[in-house]
Amino acid sequence: MSNSTRRSKVEKIKEESQFLRGTLAEELAQQTPNFSEASQQILKFHGIYQQTDRDVTRERKQQGLDQDYSMMIRTKNTGGACPAAFYLALDHLADTLGNGTIRVTTRQAFQLHGIPKQDLKATIQTIHNSLGTTLAACGDIERNIMSPAAPFAQRDYQRVEEYAQKISEALAPKTGAYYEVWLDGEKVHHYSTLTEEPLYGPTYLPRKFKTALTVPGDNSVDLLTNDLGLVLISTPGGEIEGFNVTVGGGMGMSHNSEETFPRTADPLGFVLPDQVIPVAQAVVRVQRDHGDRLNRKHARLKYLLADRGVAWFREQVERELGYALGPWRALPPWEYRDYLGWHEQGDGQWFLGLSVANGRIKDTEEWRLKSALHQILSTWGFDLRLTPHQNILIIGIDPEHRTAIDTILRDHGVLPVEKITPAERYSMACPAMPTCSLALTESERYLPTLVAQMAQQLTAMGLGDEKISIRMTGCPNGCARPYMGEIGLVGSAQEAYQLFLGGNLESTRLNQLFLKQVHRDQILEVLTPIWQGFKEERLAGEGFGDYCYRVGMDYLRTKL
Ligand code: SF4
Repeated sequence: MSNSTRRSKVEKIKEESQFLRGTLAEELAQQTPNFSEASQQILKFHGIYQQTDRDVTRERKQQGLDQDYSMMIRTKNTGGACPAAFYLALDHLADTLGNGTIRVTTRQAFQLHGIPKQDLKATIQTIHNSLGTTLAACGDIERNIMSPAAPFAQRDYQRVEEYAQKISEALAPKTGAYYEVWLDGEKVHHYSTLTEEPLYGPTYLPRKFKTALTVPGDNSVDLLTNDLGLVLISTPGGEIEGFNVTVGGGMGMSHNSEETFPRTADPLGFVLPDQVIPVAQAVVRVQRDHGDRLNRKHARLKYLLADRGVAWFREQVERELGYALGPWRALPPWEYRDYLGWHEQGDGQWFLGLSVANGRIKDTEEWRLKSALHQILSTWGFDLRLTPHQNILIIGIDPEHRTAIDTILRDHGVLPVEKITPAERYSMACPAMPTCSLALTESERYLPTLVAQMAQQLTAMGLGDEKISIRMTGCPNGCARPYMGEIGLVGSAQEAYQLFLGGNLESTRLNQLFLKQVHRDQILEVLTPIWQGFKEERLAGEGFGDYCYRVGMDYLRTKL
């Protein structure tokens, strides 16, 4: 069998699943705490990952017990939109069936962790009854579509939201499996009963596929890390002209595998408004038909771009469409925006952006964000928007409620943005241990300690107000987009990380490998002389990442 016809094991599982049904219904009926290997692959398309509590694996093994299995459930919230009722339902599920916390993901969705297998159906049904879904939140398919979270009453922001929704619907799976398995066959308004997938076919895509939309200048969505990016272009008079299209961004890589790498997207061209959905579908079809179905580590769209070039890719897309794409339109520089703090929406109402440390909504002794949100949303019914930086915006607030909201937050120990250190504000971590099976080391549980130490050291050096993006992951898969950070820390072994430097706050440039391995206790020691060099040698207005990029990694290594 040639390489072009050989396929990975997962491809066979997808094909035999009959459009994502597999044996899920049968296995759900069994009194086991876990699913078969094949079902675990299919579950991802339903927004579910089987996980184990790795903190107790060894102990349980010693006691002759099996792993401690539970399920992670990820929702799909296009553009991070989340009605109050949906959030309150998740809050209740987290307390009654999950681990008592809710996690905001780096793609504007939620995750619940620790759901037992026997409670999966009830969980999905509750999410569905609150007008949410988990379908296609994971798996080899279009994932949650990102767009700027800010609810500005500006035409271009609103248009981007509308298009994000339209593309989300156009690229959604059409299989009836989701409601057959979880909703007892109930037919609901947004799923068809087709047993075929007109766009994807029986094996869906070779790997996950990510899309983001935005307006010129606003890179809150980390546009260039997406497989498909769309930037709305309008005339000075406010008429919509169309969209610039980017393709081939992606973060994940594998250690010691040179054929894998993070990549920023290439400009593909410009399309008119009515061409947006056909173009998105054409890009998906080219990846469907030409992506690598043998080696899953080489299966993302970015490798097609890297191997065959953007000219070849454009030709394929144009062949699918039957017409040529327009030339790329010039764009202003990108800015990083996180929308924290109070902002007027432009329609007389306000929104409040709250920092959620590493995206984890929970209650601790001093910081009770989960209870505060519950009180605010159940009192006034405000909707939420989730940001790609794992923060939340409470939106649609009448000005007279601002003081009461500030009081509730203060009473629950939730700090206003002015009191959060820049190191914390611009940092982001993936969940990693103890639930992620791929984690080589800690991320979410360790970053707060490191960030607090960094903030203290930067302040002592007179750099406490510098905005420096810090991104940490427990493995090279890159879920918190570490390869774009000014400081990127990628788990490489227990308590050790690869250190990357030289990205920028605007997230338009990949960083570079600075050290192959650094123990977590030495990270501060390594960074301190580099921060000193930055302080003494920076150009006027130069950011930390730009300084590192300008002087280069070899020069920075002389400082160690
Ligand atoms: Fe797990 Fe790696 Fe993703 Fe972190 S980056 S959540 S460790 S797969």
